[in-house]
Amino acid sequence: MFDYLIVGAGFAGSVLAERLAAGAGKRVLLVDRRTHVGGNAYDHYDDAGVLVHKYGPHIFHTNPREVFDYLGRFTAWRPYEHRVLASVDGQLLPIPINLDTVNRLYGLSLTSLELEQFFAARAEPVEAVRTSEDVIVSRVGRDLYTKFFRNYTRKQWGLDPGELDASVTARVPVRIGRDDRYFSDTYQAMPRHGYTRMFERMLAHPGIKVLLGADYRDVVGEVAYREMIYTGPVDEFFDHRFGPLPYRSLRFQHETHDRPVFQPAPVVNYPNEQPYTRITEFKYLTGQEHAKTSVVYEYPCDDGDPYYPVPRPENAELYRRYKALADATPGVHFAGRLGTYRYYNMDQVVAQALTLYARLRE
Ligand code: FAD
Ligand code: UDP
Repeated sequence: MFDYLIVGAGFAGSVLAERLAAGAGKRVLLVDRRTHVGGNAYDHYDDAGVLVHKYGPHIFHTNPREVFDYLGRFTAWRPYEHRVLASVDGQLLPIPINLDTVNRLYGLSLTSLELEQFFAARAEPVEAVRTSEDVIVSRVGRDLYTKFFRNYTRKQWGLDPGELDASVTARVPVRIGRDDRYFSDTYQAMPRHGYTRMFERMLAHPGIKVLLGADYRDVVGEVAYREMIYTGPVDEFFDHRFGPLPYRSLRFQHETHDRPVFQPAPVVNYPNEQPYTRITEFKYLTGQEHAKTSVVYEYPCDDGDPYYPVPRPENAELYRRYKALADATPGVHFAGRLGTYRYYNMDQVVAQALTLYARLRE
């Protein structure tokens, strides 16, 4: 007899399993249809012996100290501040757009103060910032928007930025100084021995039984449990009763190259000419030293594993209907990026799981 059947061994499911077992003495069965733990954060050593992220680059960053400290119980950290270059007009330029981006793109030597005036002269004011186009155009104007954001977004989402919530492109800040870090969070670090090792330590508690390569639908009839925590796609749980919630997928092309360095930055974004959005070189992220190097190309697509909820008003409306159904389903708790249809980073999923745990304990 299990107290909880938890569906999905990603951050949401694994944090809840750990807390319920180690924090509340519950007996937990954690199932995942994949053959590994970690969900989309899973990493492993490829054939060449390079540590890679199977489902694309995962860089940890967070502000809440509780989240950082909580995960720190299961891993040592390697300090890492992420940096990205964008391939625009034949140059590799820093993104987020900052002072150096603009000066190098246009051959200028503006100061920060002058850059603010430069933006102000080009920004197109909007009454209310609603879309992902509004966010950028109202801040830096149309030329930078077109070069850095419009086509990348169309490619990544299959939608024009004008059709997406402001929150999507608002993830990438604009800076007038020279700070070229991709994130500004207080804590920026990578699990020193990888994500998978961290998950394994999290799940090593004797109160947790892990079942991999198993769809929960194939086990619900076979095991006794009191409550379920579900972190898969919420629409799938209800057999798409109101129609499918849109998710964007990716095709990952992994490559190993017989040289120590492939590109001059951890990630290079390709907003315009290429069919892929970005190339990630893992050794920058992990700090691993190796004579070879492994990279991944990301090709956005509609079909495939559901990686990204698509933030736009009509999808929020459809999700609200599933949420009402979820709220009215006794004995099942929904969590995670797919279970609550939110474009969450890893740390936000951890915070959400810790909040749900606190509620379950009451
Ligand atoms: P998931 O990791 O998706 O886990 C859900 C699990 O449920 C899956 O393993 C799935 O197999 C399982 N499951 C689903 N249905 C069933 C079923 N019926 N039966 C059994 N098992 C089932 N976040 C960051 O903070 N930094 C980053 O740099 C970053 N980069 C990202 C890059 C990419 C390409 C993607 C796609 C995401 C990125 N994220 C990043 C987001 C991060 O992946 C998520 O926030 C986090 O992994 C979500 O955890 P989760 O547990 O909610 O979901
Ligand atoms: N984006 C863009 N150009 C870039 C980087 C990001 O247009 O060079 C937009 C794009 O819509 C992307 C969103 O900003 O989906 C968020 O970017 P982020 O790097 O956070 O995406 P993720 O890592 O979640 O895929």
